[in-house]
Amino acid sequence: TTLSHKTRIFLPHLVASMEQVEETYIMVKPDGVQRGLVGEIISRFEKKGFKLTGLKLFQCPKELAEEHYKDLKAKSFFPKLIEYITSGPVVCMAWEGVGVVLSARKLIGSTDPLQADPGTIRGDLAVQTGRNVIHGSDSPENGKREIALWFKEGEPCQWTPAQAPWLRE
Ligand code: ADP
Repeated sequence: TTLSHKTRIFLPHLVASMEQVEETYIMVKPDGVQRGLVGEIISRFEKKGFKLTGLKLFQCPKELAEEHYKDLKAKSFFPKLIEYITSGPVVCMAWEGVGVVLSARKLIGSTDPLQADPGTIRGDLAVQTGRNVIHGSDSPENGKREIALWFKEGEPCQWTPAQAPWLRE
């Protein structure tokens, strides 16, 4: 081929460096906190191998809930959604990793827990869309936006997990 020896040698590193490290905003909703599912939910992301970079228990003010869900403002369920999200403390989390945004959505499962596959968080732990236990960002852009919205500057924490070389070659 036309690839030089040097290029061929370094190509795998180039490909690896193109795999984007993303961040996603994950939130245990008030029903998940009330039902004692916080540990179970954190555990699933930990076991998968993603890195926790932000974590807090937090009573969400109405204005923040409205800002977070502003794209759904026109929906008939919007007022009930805001009431639900502000009805008790939530657990706010930032998780980091290659491909974490889409992978987290798969771990979470479909919006309607009755449609969500068994093995997913909603598929295993919930029965209704209005009480679906957990939120996860739907794109890397929204991951960044939501982490900035829910965490103060300096709250998320950068660190290197000891297991890193055992998760990715
Ligand atoms: P997801 O959380 O899976 O990304 P959406 O962005 O469509 O789903 O909706 C955000 C949240 O709004 C849902 O997780 C759920 O809590 C609530 N919601 C969505 N659709 C309905 C509905 N038809 N009735 C009540 N609540 C809803």
